[in-house]
Amino acid sequence: MRIDVVTIFPELFDLPLRTSIIGRAVGSGIVTFGLHDPREHGIGRHRSVDDYPYGGGAGMVMRPEPLIASIAPLRAAGAHVVLLDPAGERLTDGLARSLATVPHLVLVCGRYEGVDERVRSVIDREVSIGDVVLTGGELPALVVIDAVVRILPGAITAESHEHDSFADGLLEGPQYTRPESFAGMDVPPVLLSGNHGEVDRWRRREALRRTLERRPDLIDGAALTDADRRTLEELATEIGSDA
Ligand code: SAM
Repeated sequence: MRIDVVTIFPELFDLPLRTSIIGRAVGSGIVTFGLHDPREHGIGRHRSVDDYPYGGGAGMVMRPEPLIASIAPLRAAGAHVVLLDPAGERLTDGLARSLATVPHLVLVCGRYEGVDERVRSVIDREVSIGDVVLTGGELPALVVIDAVVRILPGAITAESHEHDSFADGLLEGPQYTRPESFAGMDVPPVLLSGNHGEVDRWRRREALRRTLERRPDLIDGAALTDADRRTLEELATEIGSDA
């Protein structure tokens, strides 16, 4: 996969793209990155990329020419161009999995009060990382990169992300490592039993419990078996009687 980022702060990407799973994915050729600073196409002696908003108001707006000059050659090369924007489609596990199938992605980072509306004419999709406003699109772009790269074949073992929260529509249940007993809190005995069938059934039940307790809105969209539905009924009674 190839990911190009259009940003006036390319230095913000230095360390994250060199570290941990993303750094290793770069090292093994699973993904390559390019950084493009619209200031190279900035206006005038100061290579300006922003200007005052027409109609007045606070803050500056990113001018269309430098951004579009950075995006155009990437788009011409067949890339799928994504603008990070609070008004975009909310990032989910499903959207990350769909973006991970795109061979060439361009992530466009806004700054200031955002981008001139005409930039949207060269954008294929807009993505928001949630109902919150950040100072720029760089951290949202890194969130997208992290979510996408970790699921690229070979980045981590498929088994590892296939059981993560949201992969099958549910939250993941509790996890434990050593020690067996800590501050009076014990690891559930079933996890020490060595009985893989029992462990799987316990994990499924706890994933259903956690989802029901914390994100009941996910239940309708999850792929559930008849056994899951029976478990949910039991859990609803259990949770109801605990309340
Ligand atoms: N005035 C804009 C608004 O009210 O929607 C907010 C602009 S924000 C300060 C500057 C840039 O940060 C945006 O152009 C976008 O690229 C990025 N950004 C901020 N919050 C974001 C979010 N939740 N998701 C994706 N990008 C975001």
